[in-house]
Amino acid sequence: MQNPSIHFPLLSGLSLVVLGLAIIFGASVGLYDVSVDVRADADTLLVGLHPTFLCWMDTRDLFRGMCYGNVMICDESLPAGPQERHKEVIVAHEAQHLKQWRALGPLVWLAQYFLPLEPEYVYWDDPEATVSTMWDPPSSLPPVWTFVTITAER
Ligand SMILES: [Zn+2]
Repeated sequence: MQNPSIHFPLLSGLSLVVLGLAIIFGASVGLYDVSVDVRADADTLLVGLHPTFLCWMDTRDLFRGMCYGNVMICDESLPAGPQERHKEVIVAHEAQHLKQWRALGPLVWLAQYFLPLEPEYVYWDDPEATVSTMWDPPSSLPPVWTFVTITAER
């Protein structure tokens, strides 16, 4: 077994910078999801890890939600009550964008001109309806981007 090689793309580093800035500006950060992909054959073991992060911070003067790479930042300032449901819509919306980032990597910027990455309409009381009109990467499409990939050769 040779030394394992680690592939950490530039996009992963830039995403970490965004995550670090969110932390510096006071976000509370949680691990939203993590995808683990293990493939092995007679000669190679490959492990891909792709975490996604949810950051809550008071962004009311700037945006309700945004994302970059595998990091989404959502506005925590919405008051409790009916608007609490809006937070679910914002998180579902941004989480769908993270799936699009995973599938397309930096091509997501180009894809916005060809694919319906944004919802046709935001239903503020229905996260599923909001997300249903956003482009959903087909499962047959292998992701362009994995946060970190470790490969070991025999
Ligand atoms: Zn959006």
